[in-house]
Amino acid sequence: MTQITLIPGDGIGPEITEAVKTIFAAAEVPVTWEVENAGITTHNAGGLLIPVSLIASLNKNRVALKGPITTPVGGGFKSINVTLRQMFDLYQNVRPAKSTVGIETPFKFVDIVLFRENTEGLYSGLEFYDERHGIADAIARVTKDGCDKICRAAFEYARKHKRKKVTVVHKANILKLAGSLFINSAKTIAPEYPEITLDDKIIDNMCMQLVNKPEQFDVVVTTNLFGDILSDLCAGLVGGLGVVAGANIGKDMAIFEAVHGSAPDIAGKGIANPTALLRSALMMLHHINEHEHANRIEAALEETFKHQEQCTGDLGGKASTQEFAQNVISHLQ
Ligand code: ATP
Repeated sequence: MTQITLIPGDGIGPEITEAVKTIFAAAEVPVTWEVENAGITTHNAGGLLIPVSLIASLNKNRVALKGPITTPVGGGFKSINVTLRQMFDLYQNVRPAKSTVGIETPFKFVDIVLFRENTEGLYSGLEFYDERHGIADAIARVTKDGCDKICRAAFEYARKHKRKKVTVVHKANILKLAGSLFINSAKTIAPEYPEITLDDKIIDNMCMQLVNKPEQFDVVVTTNLFGDILSDLCAGLVGGLGVVAGANIGKDMAIFEAVHGSAPDIAGKGIANPTALLRSALMMLHHINEHEHANRIEAALEETFKHQEQCTGDLGGKASTQEFAQNVISHLQ
């Protein structure tokens, strides 16, 4: 049994984590959950936004499955998600987006793995306000080390998974120094991977190309903000935020979480699609070398998508979150 830190989160978080737990229990996946929370839930209970017990659990287990967490607005609180990523140097945010049979979209052949730098750029937390002159600065700091690490991670992934191309997305025509640092890092690393083609796109063109001809992209690597935006765009290509997974990976820790946020508009209604978190949990199983369990659940999930009525409303179906989980379980072989 592998012990995993489970952070239910808030909004739709508790509903979708419950669905994942139900599926894992039915599939007899050999993991145990150590439940710890963060964010509004712990804050409203009089505790810290990131409790000490959560940090201890992460340090001990080194692997976590995390629901979405809302940072209270106002009060100057730093984003909890960003804090966790920086605290444990989870510099890779890996977000795959793949077309799935049964999930109808205008795009059939999307198979993109996005690598988003996860600790630097506009998320560095370097903001300053000069009240006297009414000037606010947000510094998008990137470091050579940070650029090298994320670019290498993308190439390593491409090699391991026999991918053919890495596209670097940047704005080096305007960000002469920061953008160039990123793209030069990729250019320096690329010759070590002669079997992989290096391509580069300016962010604005990338957005247009993605909605025009997404099948041309394979592995994509980019800075923090561009990666955040592009991953929602990629989600739209393959069925929406309800179906796309993600992983925050560092040297010796990984936190798996859906791309979506806490979806307050549908929280508590029992209609959220748990697929994004389930797929994140399947990435987690591959990470801990439980490949057979991951593949078995993935097959059941794909079978569920072939029956639209068994899916949640965002995919045109009628199932509730928990009914969807039961439908996946019914397809377990
Ligand atoms: P954040 O800023 O925290 O990433 P956000 O403001 O981008 O969050 P989300 O919470 O991701 O917003 O939700 C965006 C939209 O997608 C909402 O309309 C929400 O209902 C929908 N959505 C998100 N996740 C799911 C899901 N799992 N199932 C169904 N709909 C979802």
